[in-house]
Amino acid sequence: MTGVFIEFRDPLFGVIVFFVLIFIVAIFSYWWGRYKLKLEDKTLNRFASQFHKLPNEKELKSLISEAGLSEKSWLLLASTYEKEGDFEKAIEIYQALMEIQKESASRHETMLLLGQSYFKAGFLERSRDIFLQILKISPRTPQALEQLLLVYEYLQDYDNALEVLQPLQELGEDAKKDKLYLKAVSLIRGNKFSQNEKLITLIDEYNRHKKLSYLIYEYLFRHDSKMAWSSFDFTQSERIADILWYLNEDELDLDIIAQNDFLRELFTAKGVVDLADESSVFELDVLIKLRHAGEKGANIQFEYLCDNCKQVFPFSFHRCPSCHTIDSITNEMILTKDTIEENYSF
Ligand SMILES: [Zn+2]
Repeated sequence: MTGVFIEFRDPLFGVIVFFVLIFIVAIFSYWWGRYKLKLEDKTLNRFASQFHKLPNEKELKSLISEAGLSEKSWLLLASTYEKEGDFEKAIEIYQALMEIQKESASRHETMLLLGQSYFKAGFLERSRDIFLQILKISPRTPQALEQLLLVYEYLQDYDNALEVLQPLQELGEDAKKDKLYLKAVSLIRGNKFSQNEKLITLIDEYNRHKKLSYLIYEYLFRHDSKMAWSSFDFTQSERIADILWYLNEDELDLDIIAQNDFLRELFTAKGVVDLADESSVFELDVLIKLRHAGEKGANIQFEYLCDNCKQVFPFSFHRCPSCHTIDSITNEMILTKDTIEENYSF
């Protein structure tokens, strides 16, 4: 026994115990640090989720009715969600607001916003029902009529869309272009008339009103290029340059092309004819000179600008996807590298 006590008193034993203690403290302190970090992370996430997660319908109603935030603040919050593309949250806020605005005058405004949100989110039937509900209460609401017209058009319900034009005209809105547009789209998409009847009616409509040139010539060139060239309006050559540019060679009428400066330049730039030495359009001028120099590495692509809201799109449109203006398209040429010719060149 005396021997064992002597060993415990050995200085080496003390050093070992000291290091073991340090090790235990280090392990414990590491574990505690990690545990605290996890705990903080959890609390932080829970706190942050309050800002990402919208309260459920019941919570939302009680939050709004408690008047913690003004109606304006809720509308601002909903419009922020809309701008971020989160229509579901915006719709929930509008619905909850409408619940407490039963007799209030501002309910009308919230209904309009709800209808617009449904439309943007693609719930066209729900959007239509909301606008019809508004018009039932206040038939002379131009915003609701304009939105309803748009919804009917998207639903391809052209008869009802045309009916909406009547009250809009009574309110002093200029709906002539809308009427021509809806009639043309209805004719093109409908199956009441044969292809030939559609083409003849569209040419007749264009000759009478000189409107919707992009829509009408796009349809004519797609279905009967001969008929399109025979009723060609030279004043619209630049406006429909992209439609002409993408035509196949067998769809071209070289006699008609030779009669017009812009057409000569456009198709010389494309390399189909050689009837121009230069062009006042920069992109065409560069291409013509490259063709004459025997270079084939360039081409033209198009992008599309809305004359009204000035937004640019990579695709053509008949009603601006952003501001919904009819026939506001302007094409813009972009000089590009001709990748196809480059791929095949050695
Ligand atoms: Zn626009």
